[in-house]
Amino acid sequence: MSEFTPHSSPIDTGWIEVIAGCMFSGKTEELIRRLRRAKIAKLNVKVFKPKIDNRYSDSQIVSHNEQSLPSIIVDNPFEILDLSEDAQVVGIDEAQFFSNDLIDVANKLADNGKRVIIAGLDMDYRGIPFEPMPQLLAIAEYITKTLAICVNCGNPADRTQRKVASSERVLVGAADSYEARCRKCHFIP
Ligand code: ZN
Repeated sequence: MSEFTPHSSPIDTGWIEVIAGCMFSGKTEELIRRLRRAKIAKLNVKVFKPKIDNRYSDSQIVSHNEQSLPSIIVDNPFEILDLSEDAQVVGIDEAQFFSNDLIDVANKLADNGKRVIIAGLDMDYRGIPFEPMPQLLAIAEYITKTLAICVNCGNPADRTQRKVASSERVLVGAADSYEARCRKCHFIP
């Protein structure tokens, strides 16, 4: 007989959790919820977001329902390694705006025994997977897909509908140019 018994959460190791979904699906809200609980457990928590995201606040991650947590803005994912040496839990928001170097960084953090919680848009406004999210979903131990509600028909929504004509992949700080739509109601403007 093996002496192996499964644990409900990992012990003596790090791991990666990814929260993926469209805009307005509550990704940041869920990230903040998990990080708050880690803080209540007196764990050392560090939170990062990419430099591109200047909406609402420069030094916080903020959900659409206006919950917030202090965060550190970084340009290059490798900065996260240096800045989170003493952290037990590392939160990363808006992961789709980081380069693919975030894949290596997330693996290194988890290899170093940290719990890594990453939130990001899994598809762009066309419904195309948004790197590095596909790769992060592949290397994560735990995946949560958050769904919004389609504003057109009320079905669960996993697409971000752009309401203005633009071929830029990202319109930063323009949340009112988007709404959540289901597969049936989504189209590329
Ligand atoms: Zn719909």
